[in-house]
Amino acid sequence: PMQALSGDGEEKILVSVRLRPLNEKEIARNDVSDWESINGDTVIYRNNFSVSERSMYPTAYTFDRVFGPDCSTKQVYGDGAKEVALSVVSGINSSVFAYGQTSSGKTYTMSGITEYSIADIYDYVEKHKEREFTLKFSAMEIYNESVRDLLSTDTTPLRLLDDPERGTVVERLTEESIRDWNHFKELLSVCEAQRQIGETSLNEASSRSHQILRVTVESSTQEFLGHYKSSTLAATVNFVDLAGSERASQSLSAGMRLKEGCHINRSLLTLGTVIRKLRYLSKGKNGHIPFRDSKLTRILQSSLGGNARTAIICTMSPARSHVEQSRNTLLFASCAK
Ligand code: ADP
Ligand code: MG
Repeated sequence: PMQALSGDGEEKILVSVRLRPLNEKEIARNDVSDWESINGDTVIYRNNFSVSERSMYPTAYTFDRVFGPDCSTKQVYGDGAKEVALSVVSGINSSVFAYGQTSSGKTYTMSGITEYSIADIYDYVEKHKEREFTLKFSAMEIYNESVRDLLSTDTTPLRLLDDPERGTVVERLTEESIRDWNHFKELLSVCEAQRQIGETSLNEASSRSHQILRVTVESSTQEFLGHYKSSTLAATVNFVDLAGSERASQSLSAGMRLKEGCHINRSLLTLGTVIRKLRYLSKGKNGHIPFRDSKLTRILQSSLGGNARTAIICTMSPARSHVEQSRNTLLFASCAK
């Protein structure tokens, strides 16, 4: 699969869909599952809907991978994110996203992927004693286009600065060296606690905000080339748990009324545009990519496009009641592939 990702100049985003099982709430209200996965790469709509609907919507959607309700997060990680995330140890920036409507399984999926990735990065470090590694961790949340440090109790919004060498930098963002696995778990629980502070309703807040957990891997080695010369590598991997995709979908589903309090999320919308343009431009077209139009895409610019690797896991509920949002998610996934 890595060949597919690294072909000459043709950058490719690894796009997967994860269908979760029906949950208790859905079962309790006699909701039924209308979606199934087949062949490891296709998701199909199984409802016997009317002829007119049948001509409006596709019934089968194919992606790089499709994970059914029986797949574990470990499988999703192994086939849908691992190679992208681990490119960080070779000095290549990367981003792994979870995209989907609220309650479709983004956080469930992304928190597992983040932990498996860090475990594998440590494993790699153990096996490569010839290099000296440093792992650094930082975490932020974007809520209403305002950036907050999840490792600090200071809730003042962070500013984004343009650094001529490093690109967009988040000013005063806390960066901690990860000492070991336990320290990493501690850092995660600090983020979790910070995320809950000052929010009236956790569900509401987590459906509107983006969380970025970021691990920077630096390594150096002394090479003997007549004299000793040190060679260093540094790269960042971003684990991004996006706001609920219902925050972007009003523009996709024509005729749907804008619900009160349900504002379109600028970062989510811009991410969609950036990803579509990256795909379009990789086909040899010219054009401008609007990274600067939102905080999320500014922060992630150096980890999107160019040499960077990207994996998107689109999560969806199989429930009949969510069909509209599920189709929007599949539309987003289709545009990214
Ligand atoms: P989101 O972050 O998209 O709002 P969550 O990750 O919080 O959704 O998932 C909603 C609920 O469904 C949680 O209770 C979670 O544990 C459960 N869940 C999500 N995906 C799965 C899955 N693949 N298998 C089992 N339970 C899941
Ligand atoms: Mg969540």
